[in-house]
Amino acid sequence: METYIMALDQGTTSSRCILFNRQGQAVSLAQKEFTQYYPKPGWVEHDPREIWSSQISVAAEAMAKIGAKSENIQAIGITNQRETAILWDRATGRPVYPAIVWQCRRTADRIEACKKDGFDSILRRKTGLIPDAYFSATKIAWILDEVPGVRRRAEAGELAFGTVDSWLIWNLTRGRIHVTDYTNASRTMLFDIHKLDWSREILSYFNIPVSLLPEVKPSSCLYGYTEKGLLGGEIAIAGAAGDQQSALFGQCCFEEGQVKNTYGTGCFLLMNTGEKAIRSEAGLLTTIAAGAEDRVQYALEGSVFVAGAAVQWLRDEMRMIRKASQSEAYAGAVEDTNGVYLVPAFAGMGAPYWDPYARGTVVGITRGCKKEHFIRAALESIAYQVEDVIKAMEEDSGIHLESLKVDGGASANDFLMQFQADLLGERVLRPACIETTALGAAYLAGLALGYWKDKEEIRQNWQLGEAFAPRLGEARREELRKGWRRAVRVARAYSEEE
Ligand code: ADP
Repeated sequence: METYIMALDQGTTSSRCILFNRQGQAVSLAQKEFTQYYPKPGWVEHDPREIWSSQISVAAEAMAKIGAKSENIQAIGITNQRETAILWDRATGRPVYPAIVWQCRRTADRIEACKKDGFDSILRRKTGLIPDAYFSATKIAWILDEVPGVRRRAEAGELAFGTVDSWLIWNLTRGRIHVTDYTNASRTMLFDIHKLDWSREILSYFNIPVSLLPEVKPSSCLYGYTEKGLLGGEIAIAGAAGDQQSALFGQCCFEEGQVKNTYGTGCFLLMNTGEKAIRSEAGLLTTIAAGAEDRVQYALEGSVFVAGAAVQWLRDEMRMIRKASQSEAYAGAVEDTNGVYLVPAFAGMGAPYWDPYARGTVVGITRGCKKEHFIRAALESIAYQVEDVIKAMEEDSGIHLESLKVDGGASANDFLMQFQADLLGERVLRPACIETTALGAAYLAGLALGYWKDKEEIRQNWQLGEAFAPRLGEARREELRKGWRRAVRVARAYSEEE
């Protein structure tokens, strides 16, 4: 009998389900978008019931597509949008408020207050995060403070909190199991990543009752079984990890110093730092990596806010291209950018600059500047920003990157991948299967139950799609980087007071 591992990939805009076979190939896929709610400027919400219903319906659909029964599914692994906060009633399973999505800025003022209180350095030290409204802590506090009756019910032990992984496991087990994994816990800004426990000090600062919290478990272990009626029989739930950690695992970055970058709307870079939790000097986050063992591994994480989004901007606002993929042909039609640099600091700049005031800038325009140059400059800007984060990681970790594994929608762009290799002076490796986020969750679940014997067997599954080797000389590379550094200086200087 054929058996598969089911990955539930609960993302920010859609719920997906992929069934993987032993070779790590996707044999069935189903996907469903769900509603985004923007009740006020800067606010983002999801309906937790729609997250659940879309997720369970794609699970059934992926099975039906290939005629798989519950006996054919050996285990379920979950990967999810991180940090999004849900509170629900333990007795009825009903959410007390919509899910507050990671992107939601409503609690920015609470982070300012933390800084005023001098509590940010404690948060930094214990959680490895740079305090921000992204993380779950202030979102939970907001629901407790602002939604009538919720604090009383929480204090009476009637409510549960969870990130999306917890919420799905709760529903899959019909309220029998309230757990999360280390990687998701490490994004709540309530979890002490060194002691591997919820921090009483932080909980008390935010006035969050400990009774709300799920039990925290390794990313690869048997959490429980699905309720019989849901998918036709009991299925083991045995893996969970936040999306970026799951992708790191799916890319087989098991060893210290290995790095993956996901090129999506933004970029997410993670470096496995082994058993060391490295405290960044360059504004990167320290976080827990997904592991197949009980012992925890750590990662450094850096992000680029605007990556594929710059390509969307060329398409939707500048109207220079009709499809994102056309950017490749335009960029390749010219030798270089003709001296043009584009810094897409539309929402300030992230690591290693952390400058919220920087703004989008184009420099170096001469009479000969054509649309092709402009498009090429936009693609190159993605690679420059990625390089900036990698340099910061190398400095923090003292580890030199030897190759970069890539995934995400924009990693399909060969021009971009080649330019990235040229700039880094290292190889860029694009796997044959770029569904690495879902694959990571499948691997975590499959390893827990012996579907795959060990990480070595999984490593054999990682297949190279294409390798991009650097072709530029060091002198030219340095010249390009110098131009980028000057362009960034301009983007930052523009917002300075006179
Ligand atoms: P997300 O998960 O953040 O929604 P995806 O991994 O689906 O992102 O990637 C989509 C992003 O990649 C979009 O911002 C899009 O503009 C960009 N993109 C997709 N294909 C290409 C391409 N061939 N070249 C450049 N950018 C691309």
